Amino acid sequence: MSTLYDVIVVGAGPGGSSAATFLAREGAKVLVLDKSTFPRDKVCGDGLTPQAVYWLERLGCAEAVLAHTKGCIKTADVVINGEKVLTGGYPADTLYPDFAILLDRRRLDNILLEHAIACGAAFQDEVLVRDVEVGAEHATVIAQRGGEPVEYRGRIVIGADGVSSAVSRAIGNTLKAGVMAVSLRAYFRDARCDGAQMKVYFHREYFPGYGWVFVDDEGFANIGLGLLQDRRFPVRHKLGASFRRFIDEDLADLLAGATQCGPFSGGSSGFFRPKSISAERVMLIGDAANQADPLNGGGIHKAMESAWCAAEACGAALADGDFSAAAMRRYADLWSREWEADWRTAELFMSIAKNPALCDFSLFVLRQMGRLTMSDDGFRDFAGGIFAGIFSQDAWLAPRALYQAFPKRPAAWLELLQASGREVGGGVAAGSVNLAAGYMAAAARTAARMARDPIANMDWSLDMASKAVWLAQNRLDGRRLAGAGPP
Ligand SMILES: Cc1cc2nc3c(=O)[nH]c(=O)nc-3n(C[C@H](O)[C@H](O)[C@H](O)COP(=O)(O)OP(=O)(O)OC[C@H]3O[C@@H](n4cnc5c(N)ncnc54)[C@H](O)[C@@H]3O)c2cc1C
Repeated sequence: MSTLYDVIVVGAGPGGSSAATFLAREGAKVLVLDKSTFPRDKVCGDGLTPQAVYWLERLGCAEAVLAHTKGCIKTADVVINGEKVLTGGYPADTLYPDFAILLDRRRLDNILLEHAIACGAAFQDEVLVRDVEVGAEHATVIAQRGGEPVEYRGRIVIGADGVSSAVSRAIGNTLKAGVMAVSLRAYFRDARCDGAQMKVYFHREYFPGYGWVFVDDEGFANIGLGLLQDRRFPVRHKLGASFRRFIDEDLADLLAGATQCGPFSGGSSGFFRPKSISAERVMLIGDAANQADPLNGGGIHKAMESAWCAAEACGAALADGDFSAAAMRRYADLWSREWEADWRTAELFMSIAKNPALCDFSLFVLRQMGRLTMSDDGFRDFAGGIFAGIFSQDAWLAPRALYQAFPKRPAAWLELLQASGREVGGGVAAGSVNLAAGYMAAAARTAARMARDPIANMDWSLDMASKAVWLAQNRLDGRRLAGAGPP
């Protein structure tokens, strides 16, 4: 009879290794399984957000990761349709550090896995998990190793096996049943980087989606482009052609003299709620539960946060000897209490951006907001903190938080009008007219485009309304008003 583990973690990415560390530290008998041989690559921007740095600290890995990074980033440039509209930083005086770091996933994930092993977790590589069967005494993980069938027994199974999760399928979820982001990434050596080492690009040629450039201190750049799609609005642009255009046109200066290292690699993320993230003896974390931030795509810290929530629920279930669906739901409830309103607010904004009819309007608004943040530090910190997910993303829907953050100095608005005036070679008066005309033109184009595809847009409007109602209801219930922070 094979060993009976307290918890089997499927997947040794940041979510799986974090869960294994939290559990093993508390004395649980943990086995981590992964289909790959480590160290292995994972297509990613390699950006560790301030929240990820915070969770690395809690895991006890921050020093090891910081020792390897060659990129510590405090500011980011945002470029819209070729124009740099803002340079923002991470807000200071929060629970999180005011910087992000860069580390390739080959090294990051290996550090996290080795740490989990050092904390007492067992690990087997090259195990391809196919299914999970739940019985009265334990769950059986059905897998293949070296082409041979193999089974493992655990009281609880945590599915941390990423966006194509076999464990998620095993509990009845349908993969790719909602909004997905499809991405391409490439590495370049000797990139020239003026300004911030982190740059985000929006352009009507590849919207909804964005391009990124993260450059370390030695000019090594992680460059990528992601596009959003769902059944209502399939990707209009060809990902490969958009990426080529992004590199050849938007990044022509930055990459002049740079050398590409390795091929383009593709990846995907899910930005929709699976039917369930827990079931009897089973929990899903990280990308297996589609928990990445819909606003910025960052999912490493989300995987770590959900690992912490899952480890808490596992600890309680093991202590009580209760592995029922209700006991596992403690995890889903804990996650939901801490992060659901934020996730859903971010997802609402993503849903607005994802409608191609709103492309011009969204970019127009983003550009004006960017200009406002340039002349108002408070608003810049608020908008930057929200985009980075450091401030509660549902603060956008909190009238008081919005009122406090919104620029109130007349000078800030004057500068916005002046910037708009410069576009047409005039002053403040011309700027006011230009701004009003710009809004009206963008709104008219939106209405015309929506009318061209009425069924999809009707469906989209109903979807948006139901999301807005959920958020309003949540707010009325007073479950969570503001101030994201880890438990
Ligand atoms: C192009 C792109 C860029 C991104 N950039 C960033 C970024 O800069 N910053 C950020 O925070 N987030 C980023 N993300 C998101 C981030 O990569 C994920 O959210 C994060 O990796 C989720 O971690 P995870 O542990 O849940 O899953 P993963 O990291 O995907 O790990 C899953 C593990 O499970 C294993 N596995 C899968 N299936 C099986 C199976 N059947 N049997 C056994 N093992 C299996 C895999 O080998 C893998 O090791 C990006 C995502 C993409 C696609």
